[in-house]
Amino acid sequence: MNILVVGGAGYIGSHMVKQLLKDGHHVMVMDNLSKGYRDAVLCKTFFEIDMADQAATTKIFSENPIDAVFHFASFIEVGESISNPEKYFKNNTEGTQALLEVMIQFHVKYFIFSSTAAIFGSPNYSPIDERHPKSPINPYGHSKLLVEEMLERFDSAHGLRFVSLRYFNAAGADPEGELGERHNPETHLIPLVLQAASGRRDSISIFGSDYDTLDGTCVRDYIHINDLVEAHMKAITYLRQGHPSAAFNLGNGKGFSVKQIIEAAEEVTGKKIPFIFDERRIGDPSILVADASLANDVLGWTTEYQDVRDIIKHAWNWEKKYPW
Ligand code: UDP
Repeated sequence: MNILVVGGAGYIGSHMVKQLLKDGHHVMVMDNLSKGYRDAVLCKTFFEIDMADQAATTKIFSENPIDAVFHFASFIEVGESISNPEKYFKNNTEGTQALLEVMIQFHVKYFIFSSTAAIFGSPNYSPIDERHPKSPINPYGHSKLLVEEMLERFDSAHGLRFVSLRYFNAAGADPEGELGERHNPETHLIPLVLQAASGRRDSISIFGSDYDTLDGTCVRDYIHINDLVEAHMKAITYLRQGHPSAAFNLGNGKGFSVKQIIEAAEEVTGKKIPFIFDERRIGDPSILVADASLANDVLGWTTEYQDVRDIIKHAWNWEKKYPW
């Protein structure tokens, strides 16, 4: 297939490109490099373009055959989305709409969308399946939910077939060590914990110690980046087989508290990881764990990396390569 990966210079997009190339697809990347890295793009064709720039995207779609778009280009910091919601709606929602409009004009049929567990908000029950009410508690989640809803309307009106994939906590790195997580600023737990292990930072702050969880710290479902990438491969196959548009929750179905992650990282790295307790972070639900049985049943997707220590091990191999 001819696949355009939007946001292919970022963390998840770059790993996706690597797998698509391995599977023999013709891959093109479009990225505005506001967050991504040019050297993380492993395919030959690269367009430094913002997806909101319809004149530029129209040129790309008119000059290249494109069968499917995989879309990873979004801002992802929950805290920033609360203080600066307009940035999130502008890029994540309006930017995606601009891209979809051009796709429709050129009759591109398939769209795989990076969605998030944040569309659900604070869980009414756990683990979270696809029937769970969608009530985001931060603008980041809201900006993604609006796209999910837009996709349903565009499917009805224009026959655009899509799969929305709601990631729980994407983590880990390319097992071959070629790619990894390079957010700036880094806000995610596992890379920050590993920076504390390597000495790049003095300690890790634990945001909140009085949540209603096993040890008072937040619980999340960490999923290996390659397992997420594999779900995208299954999703495009599903659409090409003629199945209807759908949305799936992606996780391991197991929750780990912040303290448990620190302990697992100490085991993997053999280092003592200093931590301090800090205030709760606004917009953080106490527990987010996926029920991924729909993706298991419908897509035939299973996770290879079920031991959180394997996820941390690959992230640690990447951290040890710093400065990448
Ligand atoms: N967290 C933390 N200290 C940090 C970064 C994150 O205690 O320096 C916690 C955060 O409150 C959340 C969990 O770790 O409960 C995972 O956060 P992350 O930002 O990695 O992902 P999110 O769940 O926000 O998508």
